[in-house]
Order: sequence, then structure tokens, then C-alpha cells
Amino acid sequence: MEPEGDHHRRECRSHKRRREVCDRHLSLIYIKANSYRLPLDFGMSNKLSSCLEAPGGVVSYVLHGNCYLNITNRCTLRCSFCPKFNGMWEVQGSTMRLRREPTADEILDAIGDPRRYSEIVFCGLGEPTLRLYTSLEIASRLRARGARVRINTDGLANLVYGRDVSPDLEDNVDALSISLNAQNEVLYNRHCRPKLAGAYGSLLDFARRARDFVPDVTLTAIDVLAGVDINACAGIAADIGVKFRRSVLDEVG
Ligand code: SF4
Repeated sequence: MEPEGDHHRRECRSHKRRREVCDRHLSLIYIKANSYRLPLDFGMSNKLSSCLEAPGGVVSYVLHGNCYLNITNRCTLRCSFCPKFNGMWEVQGSTMRLRREPTADEILDAIGDPRRYSEIVFCGLGEPTLRLYTSLEIASRLRARGARVRINTDGLANLVYGRDVSPDLEDNVDALSISLNAQNEVLYNRHCRPKLAGAYGSLLDFARRARDFVPDVTLTAIDVLAGVDINACAGIAADIGVKFRRSVLDEVG
């Protein structure tokens, strides 16, 4: 599993000076991850982007009055129902397939004025928390401009980072939408095919912990998956004390 950081090192291997830039960028990410705090100015994004090709796919798109962000194609899961694993990368006629991950400044440029939207949503095709600290830097800057920020996530950030990252969300994220997708681990593993062991328990634990730091937490489940009991999924959300939403396959929400 490769959370935020390591991919930057590979992208700039061809040029010594450029690699130094990326190594400095990488070390800043680690400083943020290790300190549990966000510096106000990340500051290296423009230098990094100068040595990379264009992202290629769509970075932001507008639906339902919201601005959705596509910041990575990497995932912690290999969902059997995922459009990208079924050869479909398009949303509204535009490809979501990224040649590389956009920098924080490129993502902010793609959003423009955040006050035009009801919500800014970190979404897919990919798991945004694999770039958690870039996401939080962007979220912090957007919220300072009056935006409401939601992250659509698989809820596996604590498992990936190896520690509880939920306190880092406080005052940066207004809402979390966490994919539950099944009422038990066996079904979850069948449909979502996690790359890491213990995923189902970890996502439930993340939802419980995130409740203390994010005002609006929702578990979601797709109701057409074989064996999935939507009422049982809603019951799990109620037990944890968060909201529940039934979602529709292939509909961005
Ligand atoms: S989490 Fe989303 S993008 Fe990732 S594999 Fe599952 S459906 Fe696809």
C-alpha cells in the first residue's frame, strides 16, 4: 500500500535537480504526517508541477451544484463493481484517468471560486485519503474562503497510515461519506476486495472515531450488491451514531 508520498519520488527520477525538489516536497509531506499538524503554506507545489506532464484526466467536475475532485486513481480497494475495473473511466463524457496526480495548486486552480458550489467533494475514481495531507491542505484553504468540504472515502485511512488520523480532520473537513457497502466482513471482502487485512473492522472504527472530529458523518451502501441488506447497513450506522445513505451504482453522490 502506498499512501501519500512515495509516488512523488518516482516521478522525477530522470533529472538530478528535479529530484532534489521532489525529495524536499516528500520530506514536507512526512513532516506533516508525523507532526499531525498542517503548515499554513505548503509552498512546493509550483516547483513540483514544473517538472511533470499535465494530469491528463479531469481534476474537477460539476454535478448537483457541487464541485467534485478527482485527485488520485489509486485505491485501497479493488471493488468488483468499480467502473474503472470494468474499463469505464468516463464521467459526463470526460476521462477520469489521470496520467499523474495533480498538485494542490493545480487542484485549487481547477476549482476556481469555491463559493459557486454547495460543496467541494473529494471523490474518485480513486481513494482521496491516499493523499490525505494534500487533501487537508486544500480543504483548509477552501474553508478559509467559505467553502463546505466533504471527503468521500473508503474509511481505511487509519489502516493505511498505521495510526489514528481522524483528529487531523478537525476544522478541515465538514462532512465524511464512508463506504460501508456490506453488513458483515465476508460480504465486504467479496464485493470490495480490500488490499489490506482487517479492512472492515478498521472502517467501522474509523467511523466511530471520526464522529468526534467531523460534524457530519454518513455511512453509505449500494443496494444492488448481492447479499447486501440495506436495512442491516442502516442499523450499523445507527449503532455507531452516524447518518446512513443508500447509494445507487454508477451515480456520483
Ligand atoms: S473505492 Fe471506488 S474507485 Fe476504488 S476500487 Fe472501489 S469503486 Fe473503484
